[in-house]
Amino acid sequence: MLPRYYSYIQFEDYFQKILNTLDGSVLKDLVIGESVLKRSIYGLKIGSGKVKVLAWSQMHGNESSTTRAICELLRRSDLEHMLENIELYIIPILNPDGADNWTRVNANNVDLNRDAVLLSQPESIVLRKVFDDFQPHYCFNLHGQRSIYGSKNGSIPAQLSFLAPAGDKNKNLSAARIKAMHVINSINTDLNHHVNGIIGRYNDDFNINCVGDFMMSNLVPTVLFEAGHSGDDYSRDEVSILVYKALQIALKSVFTSHLLKVAVVNAYESIPEMSKAYVDIWIKNYKSPAGIKHLCIQFHEQVQDGKLYFIPILIGVNREDVLNGHRVIDLSDDDSFKNDLIVEDNFEIYSESLNITIFAN
Ligand SMILES: [Zn+2]
Repeated sequence: MLPRYYSYIQFEDYFQKILNTLDGSVLKDLVIGESVLKRSIYGLKIGSGKVKVLAWSQMHGNESSTTRAICELLRRSDLEHMLENIELYIIPILNPDGADNWTRVNANNVDLNRDAVLLSQPESIVLRKVFDDFQPHYCFNLHGQRSIYGSKNGSIPAQLSFLAPAGDKNKNLSAARIKAMHVINSINTDLNHHVNGIIGRYNDDFNINCVGDFMMSNLVPTVLFEAGHSGDDYSRDEVSILVYKALQIALKSVFTSHLLKVAVVNAYESIPEMSKAYVDIWIKNYKSPAGIKHLCIQFHEQVQDGKLYFIPILIGVNREDVLNGHRVIDLSDDDSFKNDLIVEDNFEIYSESLNITIFAN
């Protein structure tokens, strides 16, 4: 599998190797457009079934888990069987410049997921053209989320989450939305017990500038996938495999008929909504000169010389919205702490005795 960070050239090499095993396709024949910095954007069409599914990934450059999941899907020996009745159009990386730079935005500093109507960026135009030409029956909008999401009470992290976005301000339950909910319900039913944490549900406030909302407003069932974080999965290897499984279930679910509308909505709404309850490291009961403090630490991700580094940053003290950490250190019952916590001017925070340090992936 690809690592969490790869340069765009690394991705192109890897993708070409997968294509060689498929049917000898050549990457240069798959170019559907160019990024701001003139990198090629690729689109791959496979299968010849009646139901057309359009999936795009890494519209946010620093969200690679779903691209890795797509590569897993393409490598599977049962791919042909999976696509028996489907024509799948895949854009593995919509934002090559952001992917190479490990940034959410593209090279013009624009969030492509707020550009669905304006179409101010070349990458947005590429996606819209594919949407218009291919006329999909379903869209899969593939993303990754930060490590801050968990259940409302903060007891469990959200390792995967989904949304059937609204297609209008009133959040009407159109037939398209019900179909998207049915796909999500199918994934939730099959994967719920395999997830290290919860499968969460995103807030459905409507924003026509978001690509999923725009497509739903065109009455095309659109499912937002979000690869999340749990425990020590900073490589996101674990969740990439879960997303691959979710894709497999989703592709099957478009052929299973759904229950009555009300039952679909009930099942969908039973998926827990998330809150931003987590930090990477939560140090409780730190005795500072100003009293007892709870310290909230989040890793800042930075690419240098082709490697992804995780830099611990103190992002807050005694924050009421933080309810848990992927690593919790309670200093009231931790004897290993040698009072060696160092906070630098830029809020980088280190402690040798607590093993809080930069690490690479
Ligand atoms: Zn995203």
